[in-house]
Amino acid sequence: MSLRIGYGYDSHEFKAGVPLVIGGLKLEHTHGLAGHSDGDVLLHAITDALLGAVAVGDIGSFFPPTDPRWKGADSAIFLAEALRQIALAGFRVVNVDTTMILAAPKIVPHAERLRTRVAELLGVARNCVGIKAKTPEGTGTENAAIAHAVALLESIPLEPLLAEDEAAVRLGESAGEAMAQASGLAKRKN
Ligand code: MG
Repeated sequence: MSLRIGYGYDSHEFKAGVPLVIGGLKLEHTHGLAGHSDGDVLLHAITDALLGAVAVGDIGSFFPPTDPRWKGADSAIFLAEALRQIALAGFRVVNVDTTMILAAPKIVPHAERLRTRVAELLGVARNCVGIKAKTPEGTGTENAAIAHAVALLESIPLEPLLAEDEAAVRLGESAGEAMAQASGLAKRKN
């Protein structure tokens, strides 16, 4: 089995009058995050961590911000594409850990819901998703939400696939034998 690690980072500026979407959830707040898509800083960082782990570029190379198709897009679409890319490369997610840096809203009251939602989007157990948040003390980034993510991937074992292939071959052989027997019977009848 081989392992891969990936790292992702993203930041978005707070903007009045747009909904705040973090980790695929709408959170109650006075400001949302500006961006071409829904501005989901957490899912963007996780998407980049997954893409980085299999070295196939970043979120911008798959979903250019210049493309009008992604205006206001649900960032779960980006994450789904990253999962497809890692599967194509022969990998699956072991766990993901994240840290957000934002002044408000407080993430702790939402952390469990965020874990559940992100785990669901990634197709992993809740205890394989870390959601943490810090306030931007001394960084001067009070008007932004920042997210860091790391992802560990493992290669998808080939054994079950090979076992399935062997079972299919055996099924094919027995079907062939059955057909041969049937045609033998038919011939004898003639
Ligand atoms: Mg982004």
